[in-house]
Amino acid sequence: MRDNGLSGKVTLIGAGPGDPDLLTLKAYRALQSAEVVLYDHLVSQEIMKFLPHNAELIYVGKESSRHSMPQEEIGKTLVAMAKSGRNVIRLKGGDGYIFGRGGEEAQALALANIAFTVIPGITSAQGAAASVGIPLTHRDYSRALIFATGHLRENKQVDLDWDTLARPNQTLVIYMGIGTLPMICKQLIAHGLAPNTPAALIERATTQAERCVVGSVQSLPDLAIEQAIKPPALIVIGEVVGLRETLMHHQPETIAIA
Ligand code: SAH
Repeated sequence: MRDNGLSGKVTLIGAGPGDPDLLTLKAYRALQSAEVVLYDHLVSQEIMKFLPHNAELIYVGKESSRHSMPQEEIGKTLVAMAKSGRNVIRLKGGDGYIFGRGGEEAQALALANIAFTVIPGITSAQGAAASVGIPLTHRDYSRALIFATGHLRENKQVDLDWDTLARPNQTLVIYMGIGTLPMICKQLIAHGLAPNTPAALIERATTQAERCVVGSVQSLPDLAIEQAIKPPALIVIGEVVGLRETLMHHQPETIAIA
């Protein structure tokens, strides 16, 4: 029993987009005292090395098509582990509260009256933007920033508010959208977005395997096939993508293509 009168304690940690140097200091410190760690596939190996050798590691997966542990089960495991009185860490890629289901896990803990802390991570959109030279907002080109999910709903549709997403002078970042890229681009154009609007795909941002492909909202689906872009990757759409050419010249090295 801890001094808060509740059993155990859970820390939900965002591990950032991949580069271990992008972990927050708070997350790094919390990892050192982990006793049980539930982690998913987006957490890089380098970050796993920061955990104590004797920590119990539980892989809970989450590759878009094959969820290795159902969400409800993850919630239950977190609660059970916390009740064992150990220091439990839930480690997720990027930020846990941005398309990370951190909210659902926090709800499960709250319901079970388990104390928890949330440590934010750099979300992949931020990591990618910095790494490939695309500012997500810019006073001249983009006055709003939208993070959306391209994941298919049970009805096999990407249920998004296309009129809102197709507006000019904003940046749209789509997570989990590689499988539905053709549908997304088609809908955006159908709802009024100019087909030549600059757009980019960034695969495995901030890792050694990072790739960036740049085109337009019209050309992106074909480029994705040509370059065999695979998840995890982000779609970034908006005039800010056009700034990359200038900004990348001033970055020391680039492993990006196109
Ligand atoms: N919580 C995470 C997002 C999890 S959803 C975050 O804040 O970043 C999974 C999606 O995130 C992937 O399908 C992909 O779109 C994106 N993603 C995660 N890591 C990425 C990376 N290193 N490079 C590009 N996209 C990434």
